[in-house]
Amino acid sequence: MFYKEMADEAESYLGILQGIRRELHQIPEFGIDLPKTRARILESVEGLGEITLSDRQSSIALLIRGAQPGPTVLLRADMDALAVKEDTGLDYASTNGYMHACGHDLHMAIGIGAAHLVATHKDKLKGNVVIWFQPGEEGHGGADIMLEENMHMVSGDKPIAAYGIHVTSSWQPPKTFGGKSGALMASASDMIVTFKGRGGHGSSPWMAKDPVSAMTEAINALQTMVNKRFNAFDPVVINVGWIKAGDDHTTNVVPSTASFGATVRTFSPGMLAQVQKYSAELLDGIASAFGVEVEYEIGKFATEVVMNNPETTERVRQMVSKVWGDEAWVEWPTPIAGAEDFGSVVREIPGSFIFLGASPADTDWQQAAPNHSNLAVFDDSVVPSGCALLAGLAFETLEDAAK
Ligand SMILES: [Zn+2]
Repeated sequence: MFYKEMADEAESYLGILQGIRRELHQIPEFGIDLPKTRARILESVEGLGEITLSDRQSSIALLIRGAQPGPTVLLRADMDALAVKEDTGLDYASTNGYMHACGHDLHMAIGIGAAHLVATHKDKLKGNVVIWFQPGEEGHGGADIMLEENMHMVSGDKPIAAYGIHVTSSWQPPKTFGGKSGALMASASDMIVTFKGRGGHGSSPWMAKDPVSAMTEAINALQTMVNKRFNAFDPVVINVGWIKAGDDHTTNVVPSTASFGATVRTFSPGMLAQVQKYSAELLDGIASAFGVEVEYEIGKFATEVVMNNPETTERVRQMVSKVWGDEAWVEWPTPIAGAEDFGSVVREIPGSFIFLGASPADTDWQQAAPNHSNLAVFDDSVVPSGCALLAGLAFETLEDAAK
């Protein structure tokens, strides 16, 4: 096929795509309602295909039908920014209190460029390509809303494969692609626990029911539980991020409640259910031993593990080495504990999530400020390679399906 030529063609879009990316960088929006961002994308993809919009959130599904009939492939770009105040000092830095600190502005430019490549060559396309511009990735359930609204079904068929790219300012060398098959990113969820006792005088805790002791016991016991009840080769991370009890001006009162919140990370399907079961047993046991009550929510706002399909991931490796050479692929030895709602997409549709190194050429990528940092800087000259990879994967997947 023509993948190298398409990569060269994508490079010729560089100036335009950098311009769009930097415009988007200056209008970051948070959550699922991103009106300015959506308007800018719509302007850039006008006339390329059929547009479906959502009224629950600012998502866009762009359907490009090929000249030849065939199945559908889904490409996904996320759109939302973080509530981080930008301190990069870039001349196109955001000033509105939000920041594209996770590089989703590059993802949108990649999606726009990929749409142009696919549309330009749709005479060779043996099926359909749906490009998702998805808000609400950063913990707002955007992918799940798009699935609930059947935005993956806009061609009439369920896609046979899905691909998404994520840029990174520090996890791998610049201008390399990377990933692995199987678990790539964790399931993340919240554990919220409240012990309820009976308040009293701090001089005589035996007259009260102290929830603070139960809470501290539980926080420590959860760490031991991770070690003693879970296979060390299928990791579980439970980290308490906040605790709350009593009043910080008062030492002589037994408070009536004590609570904490933790993040829970797991790396295989079904593991979260085990965390829910064992944690519930542990918390109930501690509450009863301390004579207090406990309420908990375990697995709140859970994202799915990003499980890369072996077949689509092998296609990614081959495409990268065909177009950019073997050295352009970094095989990840392990998953990372970060989470992504693309996990919901690959639960429904076999697919792959791929990282793209985007640390600036003049920095040491290993020392660079990571994604989500107020200092994170992404080199947008990598955008054309991202476009060429996503478009190439769409063509190749449909080509393979037609064989
Ligand atoms: Zn992200």
